[in-house]
Amino acid sequence: MTKSSADPYQDLRDAVRSLCAQFPDSYHREVDAARAYPEAFVDALTQAGWLAALIPQEYGGSGLGLAEATVVMEEINRSGGNAGACHGQMYNMGTLLRHGSDAQKQLYLPKIASGEWRLQSMGVTEPTSGTDTTKIRTTAVRRGDRWVVNGQKVWISRVQHSDWMILLARTTPLADVKKKTDGMSIFMVDLRAAEKSGMTVRPIANMVNHETNELFFENLEIPAENLIGEEGRGFRYILDGLNAERTLIAAECIGDGRWFIDRVTKYASERVVFGRPIGQNQGVQFPIAEAHIEVEAADLMRFRACALFDAHEPCGAEANMAKYLAAKASWEAANACIQFHGGFGFAHEYDVERKFRETRLYQVAPISTNLILSYVAEHVLGLPRSF
Ligand SMILES: Cc1cc2nc3c(=O)[nH]c(=O)nc-3n(C[C@H](O)[C@H](O)[C@H](O)COP(=O)(O)OP(=O)(O)OC[C@H]3O[C@@H](n4cnc5c(N)ncnc54)[C@H](O)[C@@H]3O)c2cc1C
Repeated sequence: MTKSSADPYQDLRDAVRSLCAQFPDSYHREVDAARAYPEAFVDALTQAGWLAALIPQEYGGSGLGLAEATVVMEEINRSGGNAGACHGQMYNMGTLLRHGSDAQKQLYLPKIASGEWRLQSMGVTEPTSGTDTTKIRTTAVRRGDRWVVNGQKVWISRVQHSDWMILLARTTPLADVKKKTDGMSIFMVDLRAAEKSGMTVRPIANMVNHETNELFFENLEIPAENLIGEEGRGFRYILDGLNAERTLIAAECIGDGRWFIDRVTKYASERVVFGRPIGQNQGVQFPIAEAHIEVEAADLMRFRACALFDAHEPCGAEANMAKYLAAKASWEAANACIQFHGGFGFAHEYDVERKFRETRLYQVAPISTNLILSYVAEHVLGLPRSF
């Protein structure tokens, strides 16, 4: 639904929409069919500076708040695109910004802001540990002026379209730490150099056109200066970045939800069966109206999370709840949209099935719905810990 003229982000929306309009449905459909990377689209977003929204101006970014950054992501998805191809570029650098040394910030941030370097990858998930991140088995051992990395990661996205990756590895064995969240560290990994010296990339074919991979490390050497922040505090640093990530992805789901509702509303108003538009039937109207209500409610929680984040207030609960509500709402909207397109919902040329697949991911990644419920139950409501 179109926002009223009182929307403080209308100019921003218009600017992002006008760029996205250069990449019509047919562009995204062809990229999806070819299982290709939307290079031209990501380049255009980079050149326009949108992916550097959260980088402070002193490092060449636009220094916008999280609220504005989420509007950029929302509009990409609302235009029919998929910000999942590039959202890492917007939020991964937050780890460097918050925990990197001055020298690291000066080295990386201006190049990330200009798009010369892409930092779109974050390597956390492993096949054996899954969501239980404290059990990761990838290790980094200090040898002189290098760290030597061994282990395996899975589902690591955009590695083939990034220059750098933030890697989480254990630097002190689990058995030797007081708290299981201690003893992990994060590193900047030069991906192209790593591919030549100990890192193997195996792409994972998957349901969405999402470039994601298995990574194998065999004595990969990383220069000592690529450690970010203090050794052993990496898990905490990763957690610090999650509120921005979750809120941005909530906004992508809201963009998807609005795309589905716009499409199905138009289609249900025009498609005539039994002598009247299908949208005249309450059985068709109600699921669409319900999805719209849920998207609007998720939107309120997303802006609440943004307001707290931008005021440097704690926002873990709100960011998680926004992601939960938005992923659920976009999925309800997707279901209504495909259902009321009838058979045509399954035809590639309507784009509904593509967006349907894309939005489904967000109930599993980057955090699954159950883990959000567990966070709210234990950390917000104070129920006993289950793990
Ligand atoms: C397309 C895609 C891209 C991804 N990109 C990245 C990336 O770039 N970097 C990265 O590090 N990771 C990435 N991931 C990984 C993603 O973050 C994980 O898949 C996700 O966190 C779930 O972990 P898992 O797959 O190991 O599931 P598991 O941990 O094995 O869990 C499986 C299911 O069981 C449920 N479950 C597990 N434990 C509990 C419990 N205690 N209570 C209730 N339910 C539970 C989960 O909610 C989940 O639904 C990506 C995944 C996908 C599919």
